[in-house]
Amino acid sequence: MTTSLAVPQHDEEAIADQQVHFDVAIIGSGFAGLGMGYRLGQAGIEDFTILERADGVGGAWWWNTYPGCQCDIPSHLYSFSFAPNPDWTRTYPLGEEIQVYLHQCAEELGLVPHIRFGHEVQRASWDDRACRWQIQTSRGTITARVLVGGHGGLSEPRLPDIPGRDSFRGRSFHSAQWDHSVELAGKRVAVLGTGASAIQIVPSIQPKVARLHVFQRTPPWIMPHTDRPITKLERRLYRRFPQLQRIPRAFAYLLREGASPAFTRNISLLTPLEQRARLHLKKQVKDPELREKLTPTYRIGCKRILPSNKWYPAIQQDNVEIVTDGVAAITPSGIRTTGGAEHEIDVIVYATGFHATDLPIAHRIVGRDGKTLNDAWRGSPLAHKNSTVPGYPNLFFVHGLNTGYSSMVFMIESQLNYVDDALRTMRDHGIQTVDVKEDAFRSWNDAIQDRMPPTVWSSGGCSSWYIDQNGLTTAVWPNFTWRFRWLTRRFDPEAYRVQPIPTAIPLEGMLETSCAHAHSGADG
Ligand code: NAP
Repeated sequence: MTTSLAVPQHDEEAIADQQVHFDVAIIGSGFAGLGMGYRLGQAGIEDFTILERADGVGGAWWWNTYPGCQCDIPSHLYSFSFAPNPDWTRTYPLGEEIQVYLHQCAEELGLVPHIRFGHEVQRASWDDRACRWQIQTSRGTITARVLVGGHGGLSEPRLPDIPGRDSFRGRSFHSAQWDHSVELAGKRVAVLGTGASAIQIVPSIQPKVARLHVFQRTPPWIMPHTDRPITKLERRLYRRFPQLQRIPRAFAYLLREGASPAFTRNISLLTPLEQRARLHLKKQVKDPELREKLTPTYRIGCKRILPSNKWYPAIQQDNVEIVTDGVAAITPSGIRTTGGAEHEIDVIVYATGFHATDLPIAHRIVGRDGKTLNDAWRGSPLAHKNSTVPGYPNLFFVHGLNTGYSSMVFMIESQLNYVDDALRTMRDHGIQTVDVKEDAFRSWNDAIQDRMPPTVWSSGGCSSWYIDQNGLTTAVWPNFTWRFRWLTRRFDPEAYRVQPIPTAIPLEGMLETSCAHAHSGADG
């Protein structure tokens, strides 16, 4: 990978001159936003903008720069199908390589001129008179006929609600907001959490810190990692014969697809995986007391399964302590546990996850009734085809709602098919707005929730970010991912109340006459 990561400069005058109305506005320039931009271009829709609050593309992969950051989905599957990358250096991609890959995609797919960096969406409200979204950003207001939410579910760091957090006198930051100006060498460092981020951070910083206190609330299931460098010969072959990359991609896809019934239908099939993980623990941790502390008490897969060959060795080093007592308080000089122990700390790293099912953006999106999406969802972020919500016309989500499982890039591309077909249908039939019917929204989500009880995410005996505050499992897809691909292959106009552009050719029996009329029309 050779692409430079030049940070675009903001020119205030140029911003003032910028276009203010678009056919489509996309929030976020991660996989979802860039993929959507690419598909719009393919559909001949050039009048779009991508609003990105950061100074570069990548979304989660722009923000997460913590030491050891690496994806646990294989490289060839964690890429767009339309932009294979022969340059991956490892079988599981490093965080910075993914960011470079996305930067290259943005450049090579001609998306950079469409992106407005440093534009954070502060509020987006549906204007029912003008039939368009009014989008207030940190650098001015624009309007758009269609709004696409490409921000995903892991874009807002979650800091734990622990008494005294603000009183801490040392340095502290979230794993997704790593402060590279803080020198960790020789420091007493605390890492809160033992999830996907923490198990990569800890082995990376352990050799340099003086003391490392790892606060574990729930032990994760750890599997042996099969990560390895991709040889120069392999890379040369992939460059010369790009189709060859389809082989590891298909293999990785089928492996995950083949495992789907164990996660979604019959969790007793997970037993061999648990045995494999226990063996890994036994091989790497000889001390039975420590092993006991590190043994999960819920079914494997209930929380994300974490691949690592480095985690157990790192936490057994002399300068590391696994603390299993709860965190009672943060004090000016460290952390006090529920057992009363005081840990003197210089730097606290919060590897405590994200607001995945209580998306802060939902407070900023206001629909037809003047109601925020957060009020409409009341704690359960749901959407028809995991994409559209009644009362929020011309708003499409790509990723983040009931789409987790296997490679999220695969799921994103499925949703891109759906949104792409929706926009083509709207264009070809002169449709101004689409607003999903309540009953279609309900039956799609009922069908998803009906499948949840036997899944490991609902019945595996853990609490995880896949489950929302109402107890619904709203972050994962409870079926084969090819099934989602099939169900989202086409837009389904019959599930929507649609309103024509005045003088357009009607789509038989489906058109209403105005935004306001469509709003008051009966469901069904
Ligand atoms: P996470 O999986 O949500 O883990 C958060 C950790 O913080 C958990 O161990 C949690 O304990 C702990 N925690 C939360 N509040 C706490 C508190 N008050 N006191 C003590 N511990 C507390 O977050 P993450 O590790 O950032 O990962 C989030 C998601 O990002 C992953 O599931 C994955 O989808 C993605 N991700 C992927 C990769 C990868 O591909 N390798 C890497 C990083 C992130 P409990 O378990 O008890 O709740």
